[in-house]
Amino acid sequence: MSISSDTVERLRSLINRERLVRTVVELVKIPSKTGDAGAVLNRLGSMLADEGFPVERPEGGYPSAPAVAVRLKSGKPGKTLQFNGHVDTVHLPFVPPQVDGDHITGSGSCDMKGGTAAAVEALRVLRESGLLQTGSVLFTAHDLHEAPWGDGRQLEGLIRGGYVGDAVLIPEYMNAVIPIVGRGLATWKITVRRNGPPIHEVMRPADEPSVIDAAAELVARFKQYAGFLAGKTHPEAGPETVFIGQIHAGEIFNQYPQECRLEGTRRWLPGASRQEVEQEFRGLVQQVAQRTRTTIDLEWNPVRDGFKLDRNDPFVGVFQEAYSAAGSGGTLPFGSKPFCDDCNMFWSLANMPAITHGPNAFGAHTLNEWVSIDDLVRVAHVYALAAVRFCNA
Ligand SMILES: [Zn+2]
Repeated sequence: MSISSDTVERLRSLINRERLVRTVVELVKIPSKTGDAGAVLNRLGSMLADEGFPVERPEGGYPSAPAVAVRLKSGKPGKTLQFNGHVDTVHLPFVPPQVDGDHITGSGSCDMKGGTAAAVEALRVLRESGLLQTGSVLFTAHDLHEAPWGDGRQLEGLIRGGYVGDAVLIPEYMNAVIPIVGRGLATWKITVRRNGPPIHEVMRPADEPSVIDAAAELVARFKQYAGFLAGKTHPEAGPETVFIGQIHAGEIFNQYPQECRLEGTRRWLPGASRQEVEQEFRGLVQQVAQRTRTTIDLEWNPVRDGFKLDRNDPFVGVFQEAYSAAGSGGTLPFGSKPFCDDCNMFWSLANMPAITHGPNAFGAHTLNEWVSIDDLVRVAHVYALAAVRFCNA
């Protein structure tokens, strides 16, 4: 079955641009730093309930900001396509929404209240069109996405609680490729310590360990380790890595410091076990601690496992058809996903085909976010078409 031109036109004509813009503005208007997205989820829930959708508020293990879930059912058994968005934003000062030509600006407009609103618009037009004949669409929106403040726990709770479809679309801000691979990520913090007090350099005992020497040894070992990891590589995703983003030690030039702190990341390819990656890293750090007679504390914060999509999965073909029908007729090339998003969790927990595809947008994790209104309309259209094509199979 392919998508008829009647279906394409019908869904396109039902997309209400003003309603979509209003939805984005409503969501951006409510500050929702990660961990604190309860108010915006309440607003989204009441908005959808006012429109007559059957809104559920599953907690997903995080009662201070229950998620929003809506099931749009055809009434006949069949497959479920899920649209999933996070409505929490990174911890930066709040920027209120503003509509400026084709752009909506403000906190979360790009990442990812804009895309989430496009998924909501797709839900509306699917209901109005009556084109869903079998199966259902499941819309979910949640908190606890952005690291390091969130760790995906609420989405994990939703998936384990059955708020999960047979395939999922995630309207994050990328649309130039269909990502088929993405690396897993952990962030780490290391504190190197010695026992003695801070002391003038000339007064220190001759055999007192040096936290800066130990840190230098860690840097050298990580460089060696990065060379080893470079051998584990994927043509699209690139190599596994260890990265140091900052090092701090000392108060003044001639005081022997007690502490040195390092922070960075470790990225790995799908298929590697997060536990083994952690063990290997911890082992390396402890060897340096022993050799340098320092104490090293390691804080290891896993963000997401790796991600993979089988390019031959039927859902990929369905999505390409929807993308092509809503746009210029072309299809998307395959590529990699540079960041971790919730697709990683759908893949690693539920083994689901998951595609990230969202609006033209920019400025994620900055104060200058924007999203294109024209492209939000396109994304709503793609999502509605994908649902009709996937569920009515
Ligand atoms: Zn995001």
